[in-house]
Amino acid sequence: MENTSIDTAYENIRRRPIRMAICYDFDKTLSPDDMQTFTIIPSLGMKKEDFWRHSNTLAKENLMDNNLAWMYELISRSKVERQPIKKEYFNAIGKKVPLYKGVKEWFDRVNEYGKRQGIEIEHYIISSGLKEIIEGSVIATKCKRIYASSYLYSVDGIAEWPAQAVNYTNKTQYIFRIAKGIFEEWDESVNNTMADEKLYIPYENFVYIGDSATDIPCMRLVKSKGGYSIGVYDPEKGIKEKVLQLYADGRISFYAPANYCARSKLMEYMKEIIDEVAAKERIKTERIIMKQSSDLYKLTTQMNYLIEKYPSLISAKDRKEIEKEINKVKGFLKEN
Ligand SMILES: [Mg+2]
Repeated sequence: MENTSIDTAYENIRRRPIRMAICYDFDKTLSPDDMQTFTIIPSLGMKKEDFWRHSNTLAKENLMDNNLAWMYELISRSKVERQPIKKEYFNAIGKKVPLYKGVKEWFDRVNEYGKRQGIEIEHYIISSGLKEIIEGSVIATKCKRIYASSYLYSVDGIAEWPAQAVNYTNKTQYIFRIAKGIFEEWDESVNNTMADEKLYIPYENFVYIGDSATDIPCMRLVKSKGGYSIGVYDPEKGIKEKVLQLYADGRISFYAPANYCARSKLMEYMKEIIDEVAAKERIKTERIIMKQSSDLYKLTTQMNYLIEKYPSLISAKDRKEIEKEINKVKGFLKEN
């Protein structure tokens, strides 16, 4: 068989990269603690309750986003106290952030399982917490991107202004960014339409893992587009109310304790999801190939029709060439 170019094209379709995205909330999803950012408050000469009262009042009185309010409050307090907040300070907190059991090994383990099923798995964190803290944690290098609230720092490395304030609704923006492969936060082309087959990662290959009401928009988006949303709860405390409510409201596809170990429920569900995605992708591959074959068939019948209908338009030599090509394709379709 000499149809090497069609063979190669089909081979390339079979070998196309298949990607999956797993997106994680951070606080109480990967880490049992909440808002490590605020360990800084006592050093600014303020009680945590007072800080929050100020910040919440600021938000209410000025119709502010809550995240922007605490980010502002933190900077203004640091100025009053003449204690500039530096990036390194946040990174250092990140190094000490506690993580749920198995989180550290989770990423490699999931990647390995995905690889065996022919899937490249990419991990993303989408959090309202502070990016500089998450970047300091041991799992930062396992993630392709960390989307979270962050500060703009002066040349001296002092926090000056919010660069990003991530809240529950604008969290969804990052799902679209990842799906379209338009990763940079400033890139507005994320709003351009993109055909499903051109997506960097199809929505049905997304998993979103979160723990609370602030994850609902992302959970809903991912689930409604054919992906999987998982609600997690603290395995020690075992308080399931939140995830049961999320499940009852149809926001999530699974719920499990936030235990990321090899023999956990979470890993079991993840394997099932990966298996299902792999099976769906294999079917997709076969359908793409069938579509190519049926298009080729259509093309040959049209060419046949043309040379029969308008024989005077082409020379006998050209006709022979065309018939040879048509037969080649027909032979290929017969064999495949
Ligand atoms: Mg959370």
